[in-house]
Amino acid sequence: MSIKENLQSIKSELPAQVTLVAVSKTKPLELIQEAYDAGLRDFGENYAQELAEKETLLPKDIRWHAIGHLQTNKVKYIAPFVHLIHAVDSSKLLEEIDKQARKNKRVIDCLLQIYIAREETKFGFSFEECEGYLQTEDFKKLEHIKITGLMGMATNTSDDKQIRNEFRSLKEFFEKLTTINFETSNFKLQTLSMGMSSDYKIAIEEGSTLVRIGSSIFGERNYTK
Ligand SMILES: *Cc1c(COP(=O)(O)O)cnc(C)c1O
Repeated sequence: MSIKENLQSIKSELPAQVTLVAVSKTKPLELIQEAYDAGLRDFGENYAQELAEKETLLPKDIRWHAIGHLQTNKVKYIAPFVHLIHAVDSSKLLEEIDKQARKNKRVIDCLLQIYIAREETKFGFSFEECEGYLQTEDFKKLEHIKITGLMGMATNTSDDKQIRNEFRSLKEFFEKLTTINFETSNFKLQTLSMGMSSDYKIAIEEGSTLVRIGSSIFGERNYTK
């Protein structure tokens, strides 16, 4: 199937309130342009330098999402233009984003990554760490970031029930946080980023508002890079 056909079939299954981010990491410009021509404007990349390079070469109305683990020393490459940073997994990283956003005279929207998987390789805050951090003065004083939601990745398993439980736990935590009034202007939850090619249908059933889909749009991942 072509990229256009893949997109049509995925979009036909997405509820209207769910944003589709096409994950274009390692994909060449021609394929991204093809998805763009089919109407897509949200694209996600994992590597900051690759993201920054593609931004200069592709249409300016693309909303670029930094979706993967981000090293603090790479934030500067994407700070001038990035639309949303998904995987903020430490206070140190958030402080660096705040600093780079200030330099660029903007406020950068971010999602806090929460650790929900039963795998040791995934990054993120635990529920307790996240709730605690949001109430610290260190967080409240950050003026150039805004936490607009949460992101989580389920365990890479064929056990749908486990995946569902992990997504459900994140949705419950999201609901809990929205009912707490933290009284800060840098915190307003709207987005729940969960679900990729293998598990986005379950994620949507469990309340996802944004799915990050790569291989189901562009074909199998190219690992040579
Ligand atoms: C690569 C990646 C995706 C997309 O994965 P697919 O299985 O190709 O859909 C989504 N989220 C993150 C964080 C990724 O690194």
